[in-house]
Amino acid sequence: MTYVIAEPCIGTKDNSCVEVCPVDCIHPTPDEPDYDAVEMLYIDPEECIDCDACVEACPVDAIFAEDQVPASGRSTSQSTLTTTSALSRTETQV
Ligand code: SF4
Ligand code: SF4
Repeated sequence: MTYVIAEPCIGTKDNSCVEVCPVDCIHPTPDEPDYDAVEMLYIDPEECIDCDACVEACPVDAIFAEDQVPASGRSTSQSTLTTTSALSRTETQV
């Protein structure tokens, strides 16, 4: 399983989750070039260790275990993940 970030992150994006994640799997971080372009952050499911730390840190309760994402937040979360992954791939190629 993994954790995912849902719609409440949009407009907040305060990086509290980035600061507590022990494996740095929440992207983009403020140091990464995509940061200003994205509306919300995403969790890399390959790296997430399901530690739950980001859930407690998020001030707007935007982070959920993958199987507990509200229906209203799921599609946005996944499309953002796809878009951000595409951006990451583009960067890797450059
Ligand atoms: S659950 Fe833990 S490892 Fe996964 S994104 Fe949150 S803080 Fe990082
Ligand atoms: S802590 Fe919550 S609102 Fe802040 S960046 Fe992470 S998911 Fe978004």
